[in-house]
Amino acid sequence: MSPPRYAEIALPLPVTRSYTYEIPAELSARAVPGARVVVPLGRRRAVGLVTAVDVAPPDVPARAALAAPDDQPALTPALVDLGRWISDYYGAPLGLTLRALLPGPFWSVAKPAGPAEGRERIVSLVRRLPSLTEREEAFRRAPRRRAAYEALEALGGTAPLRHLVDRLGLSAAVLDGLAGQGLAEVSVVAHPRDPFAGTSVPPPPVMTPAQADLVQALLAAPAATPAVIHGVTGSGKTLVYLELLRRLVDAGRGAIVLVPEIALTPQTVARVRGVFGDRVAVLHSGLSDGERLDAWRTLRRGDRVVAVGPRSAVFAPVNDLGAIVVDEEHEPSYKQGSTPRYHARDVARARARIEGARLILGSATPSLETLHAVETGAARLFELPERVGARPLPPVAVVDLRSAERVPEARAIPWTTALDDAVSGALGRREQVILLLNRRGFATYLQCPQCGAVTECPHCAIALTVHRTPRALRCHYCNHERPIPETCAACGHATQRQGGLGTQQLEHFIGLRFPAARIARMDLDTTSTKWAHHEILGRFAKGEVDLLLGTQMIAKGLDFPNVTVVGVVDADTGLHLPDFRAAERTFQLVAQVAGRAGRGERGGQVVVQTRHPDHHAIRAAAAHSVRAFATAELPLRTAPQPAYPPTVGLVRFVASAREADRAAALADRVAGWLRRANAGTLAGALTVLGPAPCPLARLEGRWRWHVLAKAAEARVLGRVVRAWRATGRSGVTVDRDPVSLL
Ligand code: ADP
Ligand code: ZN
Repeated sequence: MSPPRYAEIALPLPVTRSYTYEIPAELSARAVPGARVVVPLGRRRAVGLVTAVDVAPPDVPARAALAAPDDQPALTPALVDLGRWISDYYGAPLGLTLRALLPGPFWSVAKPAGPAEGRERIVSLVRRLPSLTEREEAFRRAPRRRAAYEALEALGGTAPLRHLVDRLGLSAAVLDGLAGQGLAEVSVVAHPRDPFAGTSVPPPPVMTPAQADLVQALLAAPAATPAVIHGVTGSGKTLVYLELLRRLVDAGRGAIVLVPEIALTPQTVARVRGVFGDRVAVLHSGLSDGERLDAWRTLRRGDRVVAVGPRSAVFAPVNDLGAIVVDEEHEPSYKQGSTPRYHARDVARARARIEGARLILGSATPSLETLHAVETGAARLFELPERVGARPLPPVAVVDLRSAERVPEARAIPWTTALDDAVSGALGRREQVILLLNRRGFATYLQCPQCGAVTECPHCAIALTVHRTPRALRCHYCNHERPIPETCAACGHATQRQGGLGTQQLEHFIGLRFPAARIARMDLDTTSTKWAHHEILGRFAKGEVDLLLGTQMIAKGLDFPNVTVVGVVDADTGLHLPDFRAAERTFQLVAQVAGRAGRGERGGQVVVQTRHPDHHAIRAAAAHSVRAFATAELPLRTAPQPAYPPTVGLVRFVASAREADRAAALADRVAGWLRRANAGTLAGALTVLGPAPCPLARLEGRWRWHVLAKAAEARVLGRVVRAWRATGRSGVTVDRDPVSLL
């Protein structure tokens, strides 16, 4: 009899240690590195991943693995290496990291194939009443039906019946009434419709000379150096990616295209499908577990060769990976918000290096990190300085809200005659308008005019937002909801004042101001159901909507040639957040939304309303110039100013607890630990800031304190996060390269 064999198994648990199990002879052919195994864990069973075989037996008797479900290891050796890199770079436990690399159902002991699909009843609007006049006519004597219509509309036009009745308290009879009126329809679906299944847009037939030159230059450049494509909005970056990928795919290789949020970038997805057809797997959050596994398997088998998806698609099991494209690389949604807190752009760089693939980062507003990589030679810059067809970038008028003339009927709403003229001009010419206001809800707070008290969330240290559809005060962090009070809780005063403009109020005002205009609103509240984004953008594309208003969701890569006017209603909503990237985010948001205007023959214009017309973020956005922004911003993040990325690296430790003292004490311990390490082995390479309360001092009932550690050398921060991981302490999250300090 041969001696027993042992394997090292990573389990998806928040622990640092690895586990050793005995591998019975009948499993040993399958239990190879990267393969899943089912193992006993206490009195339960768990799915784990083999990270090493033929390791030394442990000191205590090892238990035996029970099963090995993979014919072929779930993770390739390259992906196991990538998992180790992520675990070490971010200081995340290896088991939790590897869990993120595979679809969720792979970790289920009970049902490794995922749950069966359920059936449900869906109510959909089939006829729209986008203007106020039509609406008043249709619901003259039916206010409850109107409320139901508007609730459904606020959900993007379709919602499960159960959601409408149980959650929103609508009556089934009223919904039937809507159907009877021919406005809505109830259907039973077995599988959620996949809106990407049929979409495909053929690529433009020929590249422009600038695009063709760029593809040649990219192919001629050394594959090992990441390429940054800085192309102005509308410069035709997508076709460049696709041509490059087409050549790689023709040569038998595979590719990954990352997009910030798949629901918001249907056009990019359709274009990729337009070139690669059914060889594309679209990985999106609307997939059922079964569909997700199918997509994964078709890639792993090589039936599909291109994966498109949001950040987690960076782990797609594409064979012989030739390139990873990160579109809109500056987008914060590439950062994962839970352990492992990876940034997909940086993981893409690591994966490209491990697998010998090209990395292409594209943006009209590259992040300062990426520009810094170009400066230091870690990446190479390629530019598309002009729009396709030599169309001009739209002129941007910066309107000073402190002094500009306002439309009197707008009252408290910041609506200047300059913006009003631009919007009514476009609507009059039957062109389309985009309005950005990066704050959802009706009003941003409720205040007592007598005592000044602002109604706050009982669980989070922030003001509750006033919502009208449906009516409630709502917390934008924890979703806590309560009725809008009639009187002040503090002093009993009878009337309450609403302050701060949100998208619902803007929509209401625009409806009154332009009653014939067909309006759609896109924010988190109108897109809570699965395909709502798709539906809204689809109607806008078809010209069924004249004016699209919304939060940052409407600023991402959309390409609608009939949009001639873009208005930024309040450019300052994010400008003063206590985060070193506040200016950068404002610049990117304003420049990106401005870039939605003037993509067709009719040209376009942009109106930006602000109280800070001289702020460098606003000025650079108005000039469509990331260079101007970087030139002004970098000195503010470099000595003698306190240094911030990209010239230094940053790790944020957040301590949180239900009791305020405990959170502070935990943070104190982290800071003490960091300072001792700095005085010792790190020899002063670290700068430690804090502890201090986080700007969002309380979230979901937990008090939050943070400590920041900065270092010029990445190596130092790697040592810090790994040493912290080794302490095994809990109650503290470690976020390397954080995208938010709030
Ligand atoms: P970007 O992503 O750089 O903002 P897009 O890739 O969306 O730009 O391209 C902008 C517009 O130009 C799109 O409508 C696209 O179809 C069009 N376009 C791109 N390349 C060409 C080309 N070679 N010929 C004609 N139209 C093109
Ligand atoms: Zn809350």
